Amino acid sequence: MVAKNLGAKLAETVLGHGDQDRATHTDISNPDREGGQYADLSGEKMKAMVWMAKNDMRIVEASKPTLVDDHDVIVRVTGSTVCGSDVHLMHGVVVQVEKGDILGHEFCSIVDTVGPAVSHLKVGERVVNSFVVSCGECSFCKQNLTTACERTNASTVQEMLYGSRTGGIFGYSHFTGGYAGGQAEYVRVPIGEQSLLKLPGSVPDEKGLYLSDVLPTSYHSVSDTGVYEGDCVAIWGLGPMGLMACFWAFRKGAKRVIDIDKNWRTEYAKSKIPGLETINFSGGEYVKSWTHRVELSLSLEQDISEMVNECIMSTRKFGRVGIIADYTGYWKELLQLVESGQVDPTIMLTHRITMDDIAKSYYAQEKQSNGLVKCYVETRFSAPRAEGTQELTSL
Ligand SMILES: [Zn+2]
Ligand SMILES: [Zn+2]
Repeated sequence: MVAKNLGAKLAETVLGHGDQDRATHTDISNPDREGGQYADLSGEKMKAMVWMAKNDMRIVEASKPTLVDDHDVIVRVTGSTVCGSDVHLMHGVVVQVEKGDILGHEFCSIVDTVGPAVSHLKVGERVVNSFVVSCGECSFCKQNLTTACERTNASTVQEMLYGSRTGGIFGYSHFTGGYAGGQAEYVRVPIGEQSLLKLPGSVPDEKGLYLSDVLPTSYHSVSDTGVYEGDCVAIWGLGPMGLMACFWAFRKGAKRVIDIDKNWRTEYAKSKIPGLETINFSGGEYVKSWTHRVELSLSLEQDISEMVNECIMSTRKFGRVGIIADYTGYWKELLQLVESGQVDPTIMLTHRITMDDIAKSYYAQEKQSNGLVKCYVETRFSAPRAEGTQELTSL
């Protein structure tokens, strides 16, 4: 893995960064990079979760970020979390993650400082971020396909491997733009008016946070695959995404929703989603063949092709198979559903922890232990716990 990552870094150095018309400064994955030129002049420090090496994640002291571009917004994080895809970073299978990169792509926050080009966001407003950094102006952004933004990711390595580039993603390596992430007390949000959504007072952070990724991505998987009245739907895996996909499938009118997973998560899901059927079997990302086990141990592969084969074999003729992919395009309409109480994202919320326990959350999610489905990470800026949500605990 180390060799692979070094190779990617070398390739980027040789090929140079993308010559695209970049909408923002990329690859500022920690304000203390490059001699601290991206640190706030106040000298204020913050806690941040950084990637040090494969399976070595640490909370460190970093500088508060400063405004870099006119459309930047600096936010004070009031709630953060750990995504299943962060575990891939921990394993070192994402190329171009570098020592000291601040991780985390899902966070809610309060606007702390705004750049001179920002007019619709005011200091003190509560917001949630989109996990993707997008320009709002390229042909993809104009169609609301922000994850395909052409102007926020300069990774030549990604272009070489995929033939094109995705948009940037907060806290997810230089492969996706090298932005500092939200497992920190402050974040620089480039193109803030595009990347932040205001939260109304009636939506607490413990619900609003999940508009960053889980709600829109799970909703997208169900709506894009196509679930219609009377359908019978099977979903592999019961992490936060799988759990919410079950919820959306019922909401779209599915007659039966069956989830496949192998441990305590099946009982948990049934207690949260009435009518859900489960099959206790290795669903989700579990290795089933020895060849795949070897590939994984050598970091040659991460995703599990056996699972896709199972999905296809289990689907009736003229049925539909969908593979989940990140997407945030629905977040405004989903906010309305959260606000009106038609969806309650706290059904996946099992733990409230402090920043000091973030690394443990990575390990618990990796092992599917401690009864952890999704955590809410509070910071020194968090509001008191919303009624009906978990008490602070330690992992
Ligand atoms: Zn995520
Ligand atoms: Zn764009």
